[in-house]
Amino acid sequence: MSVTSTCDVAVVGGGVIGCAIGYRLAKSGLSVEIIERDGIASHASGNAYGGLYATFGPGIPGPALAVAKKSSELHEQLDPEIESVSDIDTEFRPSRSIDVAMDEAALKEVNANADWWESEDLPVERLSAESILEMEPLVTPNIVGGVRHLSHYEVDSYKLTLALATAFERHGGVIRSGNVVSLVTPGEVTLESGSAISAPVRIICSGPWAGANEIAGIPNLPIRPVKGEIIRLSFPGDDFSHRVVNGRPYIARKPDGLVWIGTTDEEAGFDETASASARDSILAGALDLAPALESAVIEQHTACLRPTSADGLPVVGQVDDGLYVANGAGSKGILYSHMIAEWIADSVLENADSIPTEFAVSRFL
Ligand SMILES: Cc1cc2nc3c(=O)[nH]c(=O)nc-3n(C[C@H](O)[C@H](O)[C@H](O)COP(=O)(O)OP(=O)(O)OC[C@H]3O[C@@H](n4cnc5c(N)ncnc54)[C@H](O)[C@@H]3O)c2cc1C
Repeated sequence: MSVTSTCDVAVVGGGVIGCAIGYRLAKSGLSVEIIERDGIASHASGNAYGGLYATFGPGIPGPALAVAKKSSELHEQLDPEIESVSDIDTEFRPSRSIDVAMDEAALKEVNANADWWESEDLPVERLSAESILEMEPLVTPNIVGGVRHLSHYEVDSYKLTLALATAFERHGGVIRSGNVVSLVTPGEVTLESGSAISAPVRIICSGPWAGANEIAGIPNLPIRPVKGEIIRLSFPGDDFSHRVVNGRPYIARKPDGLVWIGTTDEEAGFDETASASARDSILAGALDLAPALESAVIEQHTACLRPTSADGLPVVGQVDDGLYVANGAGSKGILYSHMIAEWIADSVLENADSIPTEFAVSRFL
């Protein structure tokens, strides 16, 4: 096998996790290559909603709460830095989400959640149906009340990943197009093309494909794809500047002017096609919440795969000498990206283990 290049660190996968890790390590002075077979941000990292929320998700409330809060703080610190290095606006901004309730039972649940959010220093504002309708007049008058989040932020996930990749390159990082097929030889990454990269540190950030046994020499990890779909609508006006959420269905206008509605969770293997059934269920949820959207025009319908671990939490850490995994971020990978990058950087640069046990790959080895 001819070695085509040599670097300190090879990162397999150019999604948000691979790019965040690449950025950290290149900034610290290491020579780093990201190897991506399809295109930077061409899967979940380029099509996610981009919500940065510590208020819900796997392990919340529970072991993931503190990590989610810290992850959100890291975005506040680092996204402006990445924007300035890359000259790309990530659209990092406060997200004014409102959880609405359609009946008294749902309102009781939202208010009970509000109690624990406040107790965890995740501020909210309790709102009457009238005040929600004043802010968002196109929401159905069937709502009985809700809660507005004051701790939520969001980004454009595609622009964040692109900004991380660009900032990575500006710190000397190299992005290589290629399909990694083997990590069997210690200190080497083998591509389908037959070329090899020599790198003492190799980091697997291949998203849901990490569990598919496509790369020889990586441990068997319980990571699977969970399909999610989002529809973008054109709907003139400035309604839905608040992200309005009714349990799962949500409606939100993004800075691109389009109204995004979502989403679905489906076990469909590696199928990334946008389906008619998901379109119908997303539209039904949105129209239930805001019947006026009936006149909206569908501009884009995307489907992609959340890399999801057996317990729903990320899977991070060293699995062999110089071989690392950073994967399984599921529905929170945009939020956790900087945090996971920090854990990997601590390990690679300082030989320090800062990964909480609930997130450590050792739980599955
Ligand atoms: C509908 C939807 C909405 C979401 N909304 C949010 C949200 O609001 N907030 C949030 O925090 N998260 C959200 N997520 C989750 C988030 O998108 C993912 O957790 C995150 O993008 C995962 O990033 P990744 O880098 O691990 O994987 P990916 O983005 O899948 O990237 C992995 C990359 O590895 C490459 N690759 C794989 N195998 C190889 C190989 N052998 N050789 C070379 N390259 C390879 C792939 O081509 C791919 O580009 C959402 C996800 C979905 C589906």
